[in-house]
Amino acid sequence: MMDTPQLIDPFDRTINYLRVSVTDRCDFRCVYCMSENMTFLPKKELLTLEELDRLCSVFISQGIRKLRITGGEPLVRRGIMDFFKSISRHLGDKLDELTLTTNGSQLTRFADDLAAIGVKRVNISLDTLDAQKFKDITRWGQLKKVLDGIKAAQAAGIRVKINMVALKGTNEEELEDVIRWCAEKDMDITFIEVMPMGDMGEEDRLDQYWALSDLRKRIEKTWELTDIPENTGGPARYVRVDKTGQKIGFITPLTHNFCESCNRVRLTCTGQLFQCLGQEKETDLRKSLRDNPDSDAPVIKAIHGAIALKPKGHDFSYDRKTVAGEMTRHMSHTGG
Ligand code: SAM
Ligand code: SF4
Repeated sequence: MMDTPQLIDPFDRTINYLRVSVTDRCDFRCVYCMSENMTFLPKKELLTLEELDRLCSVFISQGIRKLRITGGEPLVRRGIMDFFKSISRHLGDKLDELTLTTNGSQLTRFADDLAAIGVKRVNISLDTLDAQKFKDITRWGQLKKVLDGIKAAQAAGIRVKINMVALKGTNEEELEDVIRWCAEKDMDITFIEVMPMGDMGEEDRLDQYWALSDLRKRIEKTWELTDIPENTGGPARYVRVDKTGQKIGFITPLTHNFCESCNRVRLTCTGQLFQCLGQEKETDLRKSLRDNPDSDAPVIKAIHGAIALKPKGHDFSYDRKTVAGEMTRHMSHTGG
């Protein structure tokens, strides 16, 4: 049997993790992610579910072992469970893990199906446990629906990790409560620094930004933390809360930069491959796919060509009280 090829970038990093945005649409309008009157892409721009399946399968044939489905809100895309079912055929073979990042609003409908096809872990974004603040942050979301979604995922046997964006003046006061709540429910939690992605309309990035170095100092007033050497190849670094055993992650693209061990690339819902979340370089895989309906060879060539151009790291910075390295595209388009 032939060995699976590998994707190795110019800095000798093995790329085995693909994040895929399956839609730019969402049933929420989080204040740090999109403006309320967001304009979405025309449908024909999006990869069809069949194209997504074909492209993800090509990536898997070239050495991708972990697939994270995201968006926008992946579970609002019509027919998305057909895609999940189909792509799950690679699990236990060339694919080690199929997972998703979701706002949780649709999980009461889909948790059982996701568990049945082999999804073992999900990341659920939740920035507050206060119903009014939840409404203020998400504009259109309902906290209860998300809490029910979390319950449904856990009842289906899926392990849940909470993602919380650190928002100055908004969820600062709940920090300890949220950590306790996660510990009670046996969920890990990861904090994320607001990144300069996309135009927010009236919102100001620097007003939202709460450095995780400050957040960590605050947690340490209540609990002792031990650094864990675990490295998932992503931007997160982890600590353990000595008292509860709970794991806390910090995604700190602004205060620290861990690009040197990056193992991932991102595919947008329109089939553009971004070698780095924080850089503009992209490769149009949709064109390779659509121009070559009967052969994957040009797509494979384009993927390897893109990996050969993966940059060393991003340039995000809020130094000197200005936002630098800002990306015009939204996180929901590239897939957070
Ligand atoms: N809709 C899904 C969700 O909210 O989990 C998946 C897509 S969302 C873009 C993925 C993650 O990106 C979420 O945890 C969200 O909080 C985070 N996110 C969105 N915009 C961000 C920004 N500007 N800075 C940091 N994190 C952001
Ligand atoms: Fe939607 Fe997720 Fe963006 Fe919130 S963060 S608007 S839930 S895509």
